[in-house]
Amino acid sequence: MTLLVQKYGGTSVGSLERIHDVASKVLNYKNKGHDVVVVVSAMSGETNRLVELAKGISSDPSERELDVLLSTGEQVTIALLTMALQNLGCKSRSYTGAQVHILTDDAHNKARILDIDGARVKRDLSEGYIVVVAGFQGVDQQGNITTLGRGGSDTTAVALAAALKAEECQIFTDVDGVYTTDPRVVPEARRLDRVTFEEMLEMASLGSKVLQIRAVEFAGKYNVPLRVLSSFEEGEGTLITYEERGMEQALISGIAFNRDEAKLTIQGVPDQPGVAHRILGPIGDANVEVDMIIQNVGADGTTDFTCTVHRNDYDKALAILQDTAKELGAREVSGDNKIVKVSLVGVGMRSHAGIASTMFKALADEGINIRMISTSEIKVSVVVDEKYLELAVRALHVAFGLDEEPDNAGKTKY
Ligand code: ADP
Ligand code: ASP
Ligand code: MG
Repeated sequence: MTLLVQKYGGTSVGSLERIHDVASKVLNYKNKGHDVVVVVSAMSGETNRLVELAKGISSDPSERELDVLLSTGEQVTIALLTMALQNLGCKSRSYTGAQVHILTDDAHNKARILDIDGARVKRDLSEGYIVVVAGFQGVDQQGNITTLGRGGSDTTAVALAAALKAEECQIFTDVDGVYTTDPRVVPEARRLDRVTFEEMLEMASLGSKVLQIRAVEFAGKYNVPLRVLSSFEEGEGTLITYEERGMEQALISGIAFNRDEAKLTIQGVPDQPGVAHRILGPIGDANVEVDMIIQNVGADGTTDFTCTVHRNDYDKALAILQDTAKELGAREVSGDNKIVKVSLVGVGMRSHAGIASTMFKALADEGINIRMISTSEIKVSVVVDEKYLELAVRALHVAFGLDEEPDNAGKTKY
């Protein structure tokens, strides 16, 4: 018997009818001879609803209590799905994260999984049960409920698949795989049959929310075969793999974007050792993560410094920077929270020059001004005004031949 860990996301369990459909689908796999562990998210919209409830009580709710609240969403769906499976005549049991000892650190709202005790699940499987586990939640050493960050059910599924040595971890969602870019923004986007862990990791960290970044990290680290598939249609989906594709394949695999960006600039700071630290230190101390950092060439003994942060942290970071500016005698602090980051990702970039210039030309042809640029081995990112997001992504999708069938993609353009 081969073991599958299957995860069904919020939309896939978004109504009672859909929960019935998931139960039938899972039973089908069981009838084909697989053992199945199912991980479910909360019904779509539920986690957001719970966040809003908390905000209605307090503008700054305790992180511990927020986790107690948020974890209830998944507790509802595990019970409902298990009932639906039982209705179909199969043996099934549901478990919360704590019940199957999904041990995490104590970083509430963004906890990391440290260990899973698979004994109870294995025992149930050996007795013929379909085991249903709540995604997104765990428990810390002290027994406090924790949650794994938005999209965290993906990570629960991968971690369970690793702990149970499943044949495959299957992420069922509302798209039939990983696409060249978000199909909601570019209808011409194509499904990728395969994508490497490295590329998927970049895409996830650059804003493609189809998989939580930690799920990809975990799968890469523990060698878990990971596949993204549709809950609603049959198909092979997208396999996340170690293999790199052949020479004939596209240089660019996908375009990721992130709307949650804001940028801050401090102008006219002394061009001296230690200044970058004095600027970024207080921001880090306030637990604000900095993404891109650019320092200009100095002139007249001063320089300008620009960084990007999550849009939610914009006001906080701006206030800190204004204080720092006074201390350093800087000329001015400015900021913009209506910016986005658009990134090209592809392992093919490593061995190919000219990607960035093709990118910049495509954006220039649309009259889109680039505000910041950052590159690494397999990605090029630009910051542009928010209003240009869709236009930029579509223009790049065409410029890099991503609308075309794989055999032609990338070949004609360079
Ligand atoms: P779930 O609730 O099943 O976890 P998510 O909303 O988290 O689903 O993820 C699926 C969504 O990810 C899709 O509906 C799609 O809009 C979005 N998405 C973003 N980038 C991509 C991409 N490159 N390929 C496929 N889907 C993407
Ligand atoms: N329900 C959680 C969320 O909405 C976790 C998940 O769906 O993966 O983020
Ligand atoms: Mg998700």
